[in-house]
Amino acid sequence: GERAPADLNALVGEHANLAYHGRRAQTSDFDAALQIDLGDDVGQVDVVAQDLGRVVLNLVTNAFDAVTARAQAEAPGYQPTVRVTTRRAGATVEITVEDNGTGIPEDVRRRVFEPFYTTKPAGKGTGLGLSMSHDIVEQGHGGSLDVESTEGEGTAFVITLPA
Ligand code: ADP
Ligand code: MG
Repeated sequence: GERAPADLNALVGEHANLAYHGRRAQTSDFDAALQIDLGDDVGQVDVVAQDLGRVVLNLVTNAFDAVTARAQAEAPGYQPTVRVTTRRAGATVEITVEDNGTGIPEDVRRRVFEPFYTTKPAGKGTGLGLSMSHDIVEQGHGGSLDVESTEGEGTAFVITLPA
């Protein structure tokens, strides 16, 4: 697809909500919260809207999987939360998908962008979401996709795009 100017906040908000409703429908005892915090100076950004939408859907779906996995092991009082934010930062815009889920162990983190790498049970994950997302952001948009994670605390994926 071709890049074209799009309302980035609308695109991000729409796909974050799609991921939330998808996982809520598929997960028993789902009590995770979605927080969306959209920067008011983000505006129009040149993107392949369908591709970037899939990236947001992938990242937010993964985040809900991570908080759901932690909720199954955690004491009462744990509030599973996924937070999606956008902000303009100089000549770039950032989209951050942050969760307070399981976190990612170091050996897994080194491999998450490899095609077909998954830690999910057979039939639950293809291991393609992050490798595709990485290609879409880096090759398709000249941006970067980075991950920061602390095991047992949570994870943040950050998409940085030229504005
Ligand atoms: P899939 O979701 O099909 O497993 P992905 O490419 O989307 O494939 O993710 C690869 C792996 O990265 C996951 O199986 C999981 O181990 C890890 N991962 C991705 N996102 C998160 C996250 N937010 N928290 C913890 N682990 C994650
Ligand atoms: Mg995935």
